[in-house]
Amino acid sequence: MKCREHRLFARPKIIVAFAILVATIPATAQVRKTENIFVVTTDGFRWKELFNGAERKLLTDKRYVSTDSATLDNAFWAATSDERRKKLMPFFWNTIANHGQLYGNRSIGNLMNVKNIYRFSYPGYNEIFTGYPDSLVNSNDYPPNPNENVLEFINRQNGFKNKVSVFASWNAYYRILNSERSGLYINSGWSQLTDNDLNETQQMLNEQQPYLPRIFGSTERLDASTFFLAKEHIKKHHPRVFYLALIDTDAFGHQGKYDLYLNAAHNVDAMINDLWSFIQHDPFYKDKTTLIVTTDHGRGENEKWTGHYSNIEHSDEIWMAVMGPDTKPLGEIKTNGQVYQQQVAATISSFLGMQFKSNHPVAKPIESALGK
Ligand SMILES: [Zn+2]
Repeated sequence: MKCREHRLFARPKIIVAFAILVATIPATAQVRKTENIFVVTTDGFRWKELFNGAERKLLTDKRYVSTDSATLDNAFWAATSDERRKKLMPFFWNTIANHGQLYGNRSIGNLMNVKNIYRFSYPGYNEIFTGYPDSLVNSNDYPPNPNENVLEFINRQNGFKNKVSVFASWNAYYRILNSERSGLYINSGWSQLTDNDLNETQQMLNEQQPYLPRIFGSTERLDASTFFLAKEHIKKHHPRVFYLALIDTDAFGHQGKYDLYLNAAHNVDAMINDLWSFIQHDPFYKDKTTLIVTTDHGRGENEKWTGHYSNIEHSDEIWMAVMGPDTKPLGEIKTNGQVYQQQVAATISSFLGMQFKSNHPVAKPIESALGK
């Protein structure tokens, strides 16, 4: 089950009529090569493992691992952090590190944090996609999000109508991205595909879903299922903006299973590798698609690694990877600096030459990722 952070979510009634005034902002002239964007999130994955690989203390703690130590060492351990991270996330460290940028290695002074004070999922995804860490969005059970997100903004622009799709493991995305208002194509949680023209693969994936174990409960689909549904949709429909929201890393973290948490991260890396390989072999996407990978929140350290919350230290520490035709291949960003989760929304729209404006404040894009 997804961590359930309950709070009251009373929102003062506000008049949003003025939203109509900013409902349609024409795209500015395209100055970048990016024509399509893929965003991937892996829920609650720590910067520590991304930049340092497996942590010895947790890897050898029998409370957190049930896999035998020889198998674990073989899969995830090496003498240096450089080797360890390559073992855990080979695509990140062999491909993104050479062709893109990686933000958030705090051990060398490069910081990325969430701005919201809650440090759990709904507030985090709200911050990523609205650019606005709304203090009223304070629960994973929060109703449909009143804040407009960058995906629905893009979906309204010329050339993007019905070209924005979302596949997610956690069923909260209908609320987080307000599917009713936004009109985005969203398949989330253990939902069947309901398109009229399902192909054979899609029908098989639909048939398979009910047989998969609900090991994270009824609200969280396994990433392996989400990923293949997503992949088939991409092949078939060629969305210009695609968001893949994965959750196994957070779910195994809450279960206190460090071996499976690492394994999930390794699988996420392989899924992104697979997606990127498809992108770079498909003329529709090749050399005109930017990939952004990030997470919604951090997690605690030592015995608190399993959780994250406003009062668990380090839960606000996150990271981001970017790669595409416009992003300078700086690799791991080693300069002192600070970026925030709230900047991701405007970064996404800026790659497409659009300025995301809405009926709420929107933080500035991360200029160093944009290339110009
Ligand atoms: Zn969580």
